[in-house]
Amino acid sequence: MRRKSPYNAVNGAIVKALQDIAGRKNVLVDAEALEPYTHDEVVDLRADPEVVVRVTSAEQVAEVFKLAQRERIPVTPRGAGYGLSGGAVPVHGGIVLSTEKMNRILEIDKENLMVTAEPGVITGDLHRAVEEEGLFYPPDPASLDSCTLGGNIAEGAGGPRAVKYGVTQDYVRGLEAVLPSGQIVHMGGKRVKDVTGYNLIQLLIGSEGTLAVVTKIILRLLPLPRYRVDLLVPFNDFGSAAQTVSDIIERRIVPATIEFMEQDSLLAVERLLGRELPFREVAAQLLIQVDGNLQETLEAEYEAVAEVCLDNGALDVLVAKDSRTRDRLWEARRLIIDALNNESPLNHMEDVVVPRAQLPTLLEGIQDIADRLGVRIVSFGHAGDGNVHVNVLKDDLSQDCWQAIVPQASEALYRLAISLGGTITGEHGIGVTRRPYLPLALDETQIAIMRGIRQVFDPNRILNPGKIFP
Ligand SMILES: Cc1cc2nc3c(=O)[nH]c(=O)nc-3n(C[C@H](O)[C@H](O)[C@H](O)COP(=O)(O)OP(=O)(O)OC[C@H]3O[C@@H](n4cnc5c(N)ncnc54)[C@H](O)[C@@H]3O)c2cc1C
Repeated sequence: MRRKSPYNAVNGAIVKALQDIAGRKNVLVDAEALEPYTHDEVVDLRADPEVVVRVTSAEQVAEVFKLAQRERIPVTPRGAGYGLSGGAVPVHGGIVLSTEKMNRILEIDKENLMVTAEPGVITGDLHRAVEEEGLFYPPDPASLDSCTLGGNIAEGAGGPRAVKYGVTQDYVRGLEAVLPSGQIVHMGGKRVKDVTGYNLIQLLIGSEGTLAVVTKIILRLLPLPRYRVDLLVPFNDFGSAAQTVSDIIERRIVPATIEFMEQDSLLAVERLLGRELPFREVAAQLLIQVDGNLQETLEAEYEAVAEVCLDNGALDVLVAKDSRTRDRLWEARRLIIDALNNESPLNHMEDVVVPRAQLPTLLEGIQDIADRLGVRIVSFGHAGDGNVHVNVLKDDLSQDCWQAIVPQASEALYRLAISLGGTITGEHGIGVTRRPYLPLALDETQIAIMRGIRQVFDPNRILNPGKIFP
């Protein structure tokens, strides 16, 4: 027997009401126009929205919520749809609320080192705008030229520079958000300090669009570091590469990034590009960036980093001091996801995280899982944070075999990460894909507290249902 949906269907009157709120051209109903909103970047996960509304203000979001409450229609917020856990996929249909048109940078405040922006601003555009003023917004998800600030906040996004500079949650100082009730709330501001009551800003960060829709964002900025040097370092075995990461930090040097790429991922990039990359025969490479304001200090730091690498068996250290060479060194890292999609259109990405020192054990364990299940697993990612992107590839496995292997591989990987003091996702979130596994990572009490918080924000469950909780 089919379970009755707790929600009503969108009808012509609701579409008309949305058109009155956001304007006719901002309400999409044709199948062709809706198609881009049926998925994010999770391979093989799709659901149809009944209508998309492209809002342009907090007041419009509030009106959409009031309508959705009255009519009992689910609302799924969406930034750019570049998520990797299905957060923006409307699994219960209803309204997709897109912030793509709220894309203005409202103010760069050089006196307070803060920027105020709308949620639909593309992260890379914000980077470029503040860098023109000699300022720096460090969080740099690899998807930065596509994803939005609102999506970054909802997912608590990280990126390669997390090693030294932290992640999105370390930069958000103020938020305007609209609650499912339609109330508009202003939290925080351009203040460096604030301990007034519970920290609601941090509660919204990483809440995956299940508590409120963020409509304005105040971010803390840093002065742009004056110098950067990038190092590409090949190793003959990935245990040595992983050990090098811990050894660098133990020397009390904190690079801006330490990225890890194993040979299989680099060979996939070669096949995508149709040409050879440097050090193609090695088992693993580290891509390390050091930055700072004093050239002498920086040189001493990168020389010390190179020394640690060579002491750990690095075969060479390629150094890039200008942007052309730097782009060449980073080219392969940036193309890995595309290359793996090209290699095996059906693939499954996990993003487990462990304490940095456990990285060698994690990588060994991943290899064991691949051997045991007889599946190809390719790893790369943010070694400096202990956060590894683990890609299970279908290649030429049968569909039945693939469907049986993915949950086994995911669960084995989660259990491994947890046993090493880590957890099941470092930056991509729970969304739809990791929902069944939340109880592996959190105990009943924590899940009950989280459910209670959601109940306070959204007692009628109209906001992004079907996410996070099993
Ligand atoms: C090639 C590639 C590389 C990636 N690299 C990284 C990386 O290095 N680090 C990293 O952390 N992630 C990475 N990601 C994942 C993804 O880019 C991030 O999760 C990003 O933050 C998603 O932003 P988005 O605008 O695309 O959000 P969407 O996918 O549109 O939405 C993501 C979630 O945010 C919610 N949401 C969106 N806007 C709002 C809002 N205004 N208010 C409330 N909720 C909202 C949605 O409901 C959904 O739950 C990568 C993805 C790809 C495809």
